[in-house]
Amino acid sequence: MAKQANSGDLEINPSSLLSVLQDLHSKYKSLQEGAVANYIPELAKVNPDLFSICIVTVDGQVYEVGDYQQLFTIQSISKVFAYGLALEDHGRDYVLTRVGVEPTGDAFNSIILDEQSKRPYNPMVNAGAIATTSLIKGTGATERLNRVLDMFHRYTGHDVFVDISVFTSERSTGHRNRAMAHLMLNFGMIDQNIEQALDLYFQQCAVIVNCHDLAVMAATLANKGVNPITGKRAVDHQYIKDILSVMYTCGMYNFAGEWAYTVGIPAKSGVCGGILAVVPNQMGIGVFSPPLDARGNSVRGVEVCKELSQQLCLHMFACGGGSSKIESGE
Ligand code: GLN
Repeated sequence: MAKQANSGDLEINPSSLLSVLQDLHSKYKSLQEGAVANYIPELAKVNPDLFSICIVTVDGQVYEVGDYQQLFTIQSISKVFAYGLALEDHGRDYVLTRVGVEPTGDAFNSIILDEQSKRPYNPMVNAGAIATTSLIKGTGATERLNRVLDMFHRYTGHDVFVDISVFTSERSTGHRNRAMAHLMLNFGMIDQNIEQALDLYFQQCAVIVNCHDLAVMAATLANKGVNPITGKRAVDHQYIKDILSVMYTCGMYNFAGEWAYTVGIPAKSGVCGGILAVVPNQMGIGVFSPPLDARGNSVRGVEVCKELSQQLCLHMFACGGGSSKIESGE
């Protein structure tokens, strides 16, 4: 087990960390609550028993259990990375004119804009994410998609692809997202061709990853933007604070406050059943389990993260502020 070394500083033995993950996996695999997302018809086909947990540290150690190679579409977790790219393309001040940083307290797919500014509330909910994606630069749809795929390559360390069935499934049924895009077009928050913006948004959501990838991507954010496995920079260091701040306050939708209170680390979930969580300067965490609660967060994922935070003392405002250390080597 993880052991408390001295006040507020936790030394975690690597073999103990793997057994912490194994214990959590066997404890929660029998938890049968929640339901897989079915509003995108293709997502309803997923096996609800799939379950994996993965941790990657900023010095590149990997700990993983369960179905960590199982592929799935990244869905809303993509919003984190698209936000980083929009910030790199336009800078903080301009992006703030198009999308705010205020939690909504509402569901991820609410059709709401800030009354005064007409901006979507934040880049972690659908409306804000569609506005963010519409900012990604490129001379045409193909170039913009390639820039998004290149970005995911930097974070994962390998080529990534769009799941065409999931993309077309969402494109043909995503009327709510289309309604949000039209509303934002009306208020001048989106100015390019909205069908192109929506296509790119649906494509980024349909990018294929596994749980291991989630943890590597999270570890890249934890490591100030440098992928700890490839050693290559994925995003400009100056935007890490913007990305992690909106993850912390808005990443878990209308559960964001309770998450910040109990788990206490920046995170993002998606209707695929993935949760990506970042312990700055320490590690990235990925959990995958498709059944969702009423707010669209993975049921097992939330429980695992709550326990991991407690056992490893990861909460930003406890135990010296995320000062857990994993000893290198076995
Ligand atoms: N593609 C999904 C949508 O736009 C993503 C939602 C999510 O993962 N919360 O509805």
